Amino acid sequence: MCGIIGVSNHKEASKIVFLGLYALQHRGEEAAGIVSFDGKDIHVVKNPGLVDDALDEKAIEELKGKVAIGHCRYSTTGSSNVKNIQPLLVTHRNIPIAVAHNGNLTNTEELYQKLEEEGSIFQTTMDSEIIVHLLAKTQNGDLKEWFINVLSQLKGAFSLVLLVGDTVVGARDPYGFRPLCLGKKDDGYILASESCALDLTQAEFVREIEPGEIIFIKGNKIESCHLPTSAKHKAHCIFELIYFARPDSNIFGENVYYVRKRLGAQLAKEHPVDADFVMAIPDSGNYAALGYAEESKLPFEVGFIRNHYIGRTFIQPSQFLRDFRVKVKLNAISEVLKGKRVIVVEDSIVRGTTSRNRIQELRRAGAKEIHMRISCPPIISPCFYGIDFPSKSELIAANKSVEEIAKFIQVDSLEYLSLEGMLSVVKNSPDFCHACFSGNYPVEIPKNASKYVLEGRILK
Ligand code: AMP
Repeated sequence: MCGIIGVSNHKEASKIVFLGLYALQHRGEEAAGIVSFDGKDIHVVKNPGLVDDALDEKAIEELKGKVAIGHCRYSTTGSSNVKNIQPLLVTHRNIPIAVAHNGNLTNTEELYQKLEEEGSIFQTTMDSEIIVHLLAKTQNGDLKEWFINVLSQLKGAFSLVLLVGDTVVGARDPYGFRPLCLGKKDDGYILASESCALDLTQAEFVREIEPGEIIFIKGNKIESCHLPTSAKHKAHCIFELIYFARPDSNIFGENVYYVRKRLGAQLAKEHPVDADFVMAIPDSGNYAALGYAEESKLPFEVGFIRNHYIGRTFIQPSQFLRDFRVKVKLNAISEVLKGKRVIVVEDSIVRGTTSRNRIQELRRAGAKEIHMRISCPPIISPCFYGIDFPSKSELIAANKSVEEIAKFIQVDSLEYLSLEGMLSVVKNSPDFCHACFSGNYPVEIPKNASKYVLEGRILK
């Protein structure tokens, strides 16, 4: 998963991108980068780490020009190495081209093989680099024809922000898996993964980029066209609403905060239980827990205090680091928990390891009964469209029944929201992809589904 942003026609383009990346930090904590263009020279800064570590204000001063794009990365294709930091930057026929990609292509291997046979030399192990090679090979006609030609060859999930000379280009795959919106700031325009990036830079929300739309922003002029390969229906990722996006964002025509509250309320309707209070596993469970408490008319308490100096625990490439960060992140308040029957709301269970640790902490703090409620259905199938849901073997619900998971996590009861219940809280449920819960994949999945499909083909 990743965060992407682009700014056109603004004298502080790279500063706005820099600030926007802070707002999008939750979408990727492994690396960050910005590319800007001043009409003559291209400027680039990219480094591993959080936005604050990867990019500093002095470096941003050097990123001159009125157009800039940025990216923060969580690897879903390719390993976490320096070569794989985006935006990817090349110069082709004297035009600088930079690409920032969110999502996963599903025809990576086929396109890679074809391009390599035709002479392309790859530098990274990311599916995103394929887009650069296709752009270099297919250039003919005007910008629109060029992009329609290239993007029609891609399958799977892509929200893109590109810089092509002094034009900022935005695009979404025909299913609209990942979000992308357009904002306006002074005379300039902003493209961003989520609307919270617009709020931070005090830009006005204009609209979402439509599934299958390509938008070209040059100066303060916007043109748009659509890919001819239209999808039968949309397939917005429902997990963005459940967990991934920030609650202060509006995506897919929904406010994320209210969707999460409605998920919690629906969960309370489906799985009530008598208890002293409702609490969340912060931060991800907060909003569903509020909805659950409101619906069940039970008090809401804070049983865990979050250490804010530590990021999202799953956004760590190795299990060792994940385990360490899980422990350091939350502390239980025993004065609140001692002798109490508690309902603990969490947004989802993926591997089950975090949840198990959390429940142990609650027991240690003295909770008497623990009833866990999950604001989505069991995750039974991997994601091939950009969420790092690993192979079936790592997904606990693909291998254990709900009762077995309850035993593993050591709770007195465990209940999940139903698929129908989850879909009932969004405005237009047929427009959502729920493959991770149902196994119904809207786009054909790749034969080789490894995150490292291109690894080993490239010299390190
Ligand atoms: P666990 O109990 O170990 O499955 O951890 C569950 C918590 O991690 C929940 O808050 C999940 O929403 C969150 N999470 C979100 N995305 C992922 C992911 N791709 N891999 C693992 N955990 C994730």
